[in-house]
Amino acid sequence: MVELPHASERVTVDDARAGTWSARLAGDDVKLSGRCPGCRHETNAVVALRTAALEGAAPDPPEELTVSIACHCRQPHSGRPDDALAGCGRFWNLLLRIGPDAVIVSPAGDPELDVASDAWREATAAQVTDVRNAAEKWIGGIAASYGLFGLAGVGIAKESVAALPLPGRIAVAIAVAVAVALAGWAIVDAYRAAYAWPVVSAVRDNDELRAWYAARRTVGIRAARHLRAAIRAATVSLAALMVVVGLIWFVPSKTVSEPLVQLTRTDDSRVCGAVVASSSRAALRMRRTDGETVVVPAGDIVAVKPVRSCPG
Ligand SMILES: [Zn+2]
Ligand SMILES: [Zn+2]
Repeated sequence: MVELPHASERVTVDDARAGTWSARLAGDDVKLSGRCPGCRHETNAVVALRTAALEGAAPDPPEELTVSIACHCRQPHSGRPDDALAGCGRFWNLLLRIGPDAVIVSPAGDPELDVASDAWREATAAQVTDVRNAAEKWIGGIAASYGLFGLAGVGIAKESVAALPLPGRIAVAIAVAVAVALAGWAIVDAYRAAYAWPVVSAVRDNDELRAWYAARRTVGIRAARHLRAAIRAATVSLAALMVVVGLIWFVPSKTVSEPLVQLTRTDDSRVCGAVVASSSRAALRMRRTDGETVVVPAGDIVAVKPVRSCPG
């Protein structure tokens, strides 16, 4: 028998060739074995009914499912690429009718489902690397969102916020919350655009396979939408940070009240007010709350007491 060179191509399966195949349901997988319709070598395949492990109940057995099988024979085929471990490169489609006791294998008939099931086979084969790669990028995304708190903190020193009157502080709090929330949203949307949301998909029959394939084809459109939303959110977030900086710079600080002191003189009279600058020797200059300034010689002072307010 002449050795068949490796080639990546679809081969059609007729009733006789489909008849060499047997299949059984094993948990979330269908295990198949038979002869490759390309090279006629014995091969087998495992078709995953889900793209990621899911805890919980076993799926209901599917009724009709189109599956894509690639040759994994152990025989040599010349020209096999280094990344292909086995097989002659041919792939084909089978229709499974899965009953409670047996899986019946027949030739697949719907060209659209052939293409969809090929995509499913490739997606399930690549799922581990896809999820891991996406997770690596997500780590960067999460780290970036923590960086935001640093960015927001640049303009918002605690003292400069504390110096603002209450409405100013409330406005800063709202603007900071808006800025951080929108920036976080922008990062998540941007990463969703780049790497898609991690999801568990189940394909249990031909209808679900059709739905999965239709959703997969809209991935580009959804990615573009996420990217637009991300850019809008990032812009509004930056504007909110500008508002924060503007509030801190331009809202006048609340007036700081001077410390008040109450003096008791030798004649038991009292002077209450703020201490003001004075160059007179051995005397304290006080500005009373009525605005009048008095000078109290040091020798007249019996007691000094800091007070919160002066008696009117
Ligand atoms: Zn072979
Ligand atoms: Zn083969």
